[in-house]
Amino acid sequence: MGYKGASDKTCRACRDGYLRLRIRVINLLGGRCVRCGFSDWRALQVDHIHGGGNKQLKETGRYGYQRLMDILVSVASEFGEYQLLCANCNQIKRWDSDNERIGVSHVSH
Ligand SMILES: [Zn+2]
Repeated sequence: MGYKGASDKTCRACRDGYLRLRIRVINLLGGRCVRCGFSDWRALQVDHIHGGGNKQLKETGRYGYQRLMDILVSVASEFGEYQLLCANCNQIKRWDSDNERIGVSHVSH
């Protein structure tokens, strides 16, 4: 069975709205990971190119649907601030930028 038979405990309208918005944002951003071209939206994540995503998230306290709406507005008005990364590339980028921040450009043994 498809997900239509899923639990009634979650608000289906909310979730459907969120999914639709998420797919819309992903399509706006090109529909694939900018690093490796991975195109399964279930593992694609919206990444703030200049790394301001987490800071912004803390400042606004916005999550989920509201945050996606912010991103959608931003993408529509100032294209280029966000990019799509798959979960793998996003994780790798996070490691890379962490290493830059703490001054570890290579691991010493
Ligand atoms: Zn990727």
